[in-house]
Parts: sequence; structure tokens; C-alpha cells
Amino acid sequence: MSVWHDLVGQEPVVEQLRSAAEGAGKPAHAWLFTGPPGSGRTAAARAFAAALQCNETPRGCGHCASCHQVLQGTHADVEVIRPAGLSFGVKETRELVLRAASSPSGGRWQVVLFEDADRATEAAANALLKAIEEPPPRTVWLLCTPSPEDLLVTIRSRCRLVTLRTPPVGAVAEVLRLRDGVDADTAETVARAAQGHISRARRLATDPEARKRRNEVLAVPRRLTSVGPAVVAAEALVKAAEAEAKATVEELNESETSALRQALGESTKGRMPRGTAGALKELEDRQKSRATRVKRDALDRALLDLASYYRDVLTLQLGAGSELVNTELSAELRSAAEDGTPEATLRRLDAIMHCRGQLGANVNPLLAVEAMTLALRTR
Ligand SMILES: [Zn+2]
Repeated sequence: MSVWHDLVGQEPVVEQLRSAAEGAGKPAHAWLFTGPPGSGRTAAARAFAAALQCNETPRGCGHCASCHQVLQGTHADVEVIRPAGLSFGVKETRELVLRAASSPSGGRWQVVLFEDADRATEAAANALLKAIEEPPPRTVWLLCTPSPEDLLVTIRSRCRLVTLRTPPVGAVAEVLRLRDGVDADTAETVARAAQGHISRARRLATDPEARKRRNEVLAVPRRLTSVGPAVVAAEALVKAAEAEAKATVEELNESETSALRQALGESTKGRMPRGTAGALKELEDRQKSRATRVKRDALDRALLDLASYYRDVLTLQLGAGSELVNTELSAELRSAAEDGTPEATLRRLDAIMHCRGQLGANVNPLLAVEAMTLALRTR
């Protein structure tokens, strides 16, 4: 299987990257991968990094040593930067720029894959800009952000743009069916519910707890009958997001830690070689600061699930004829649509988007969500 295999519903991007990797000369020295969460922008950048380092034809074969190392994150000439906290500072960026300027140790290029490059602080972004303005001959930068506007225009204008789209529901469902063995009905339902977010869809299909938590979020609208229940619902929303985040973080931590232990030479009895404690401690610290971010992301996703409910109500009220996201709730959605007006539904959607903005600005989650559920209540 080639390295492009995991890019679901992204044929134009695969075409663009494949031909860039096949080219005889040096590829563009800076690339910006953008796309909505879950569209696979990091996966696309990683596949491209593998294709750039691959020595087989066609490049990105997926089975040579270089491809394997890049995909597993152990290639010496591919550095992956994954900001753990909410921001990435100037000191770290300067160090990174220095490392990036060195010649590859054995690979074809020195590749730096910067996930969530939008988390670079302003000073960090300026340090990055200098590096991209005067590129070392063998260095290729791969930056990832949700949208091009998330980066300084001066950086953006020096990058070749790679735009991933939200994968179509059908493509996501197909992957779940063929690769994860999910039955056709479930695959279709969760692909729709996840709105193109593949890993989210996979989690919904394989983890009953995740499905249960989503159902609890979607049960919120019918509970918002007065002030008391609205306050209770807010608390439940925040708690559900925390539980979701905990599950995600634990799973990630476990696989990362075991990958690192193996890479550092863990014995079959589980003993670690001398001198590896520092690296493990560093990973642990990174995992701790990531937890904060994951918690915020989980709450944001719950709000998007909630928004999908009102979006469905609005679709029905306007008779727009587009498909519902939450087909399993169609009876309830229909009666909610009849009971209200499109204006009221729009006001509710606004309240949810406002809450998302507040959370982005680090307002206390419970307070922000409480204000939202109060605005959502029916009387
Ligand atoms: Zn290869």
C-alpha cells in the first residue's frame, strides 16, 4: 500500500503531492497544508514527507525502509513538531530553525513537519518567516494549519498551498467498512454524525462510550425547558467533554509511551536501558500539557455536535431539502422544527458559536457553557 492510501476523499491533493514528489528538481521549500479538523492535513503532510524521502519509484511506495521510518516517526531527517500546549514559543522556534538548516544525514531532504503551526506565537512566527525567506538548499518545510488565514500573510505567501477538503460522508463510510470492518449501517450513521472527521467517525463506530456521550450531548436541547435544567445541562456538557478528553488522552499516551520505550530499546522483560529516563520524563511532561488542549478540543466538538442538532432543525424549517446529520433523531427534529421559528433557531446557533469563541478566548468553560444553555432554553 502506498503512503497515499490513508488520504480519504482527497484525490486532487494526492495528485498534487504525488507529482511534486516525482519531480526531478527540488520541490518547493515550504508547503502549507490546510483543511478542517479531521480532514487529515497532518496525515497528508506525513505522506508527502515519506514520498520526499522514498528512494523507490514511484516515490511514496509505502514499503521501503524510508517510507516506514517516516510513517512511524523515526526517520532521522524528518522532524515532526507537535506543539503540546496552546502556544509554541520563539526560543523553541529558533532552535528548530537551526536544526532545520543542517544537511540531511542520509535522506534526500531535511524535512520539518510543523503540526498546528498556527500555535506559533507572533515572535515565533517571525523567526519562522526568516527561515522560510532564506531557505537552506536541502530543507523542506511542511506547515499545517486549519486555514491559510491562521498564518502570517508573509509566511503564507511563500508557501505552496495544499488544501484538503472535508471528506464526503460516503468516502468516510467506505473506509470504515473496508478497513475497520464496521457494518454498512453503522458506518453510514457515524460518518454522517462525524461530519467528515475520520478519526472521530472511527471512534464513534468502535467505542460505545463515545457514542453514548454524543447521544447525551444531543439530548441537551430537549432538556432545556427552564433555568434549572439549563444549568444542570451545562454542567453535564462540560463533564462529558472532560470524560471524552480523558479517554482520548489515555489512548494517545499509551501508544506514544510504548512506541518511545521500544525505540529506546526496552528489553523483553520491560526494562529500560540506562540513560533513557530523561526522554521518557520529557514525553510525560509533553503529555500533561497536551491534556489541557485536548479537553478544550473535546468541549468544542460537543458544541459542534449540539450545533448540528439546530442546523438540522433549521434545515427542516427552511425546507432546504439537504440531508440531516442526525437522521436517527428525525422525529424529534421535525417536532422541534414545527414548534419554533427559523429566527429562533438562528439565535440558538449564534449562542453556540459565541460560546465557542469564548472558550477560544480562555473564558471559564462552565460559565461560558452555562450562558449558552440559558440562551438555548425554550422558555
Ligand atoms: Zn518508499
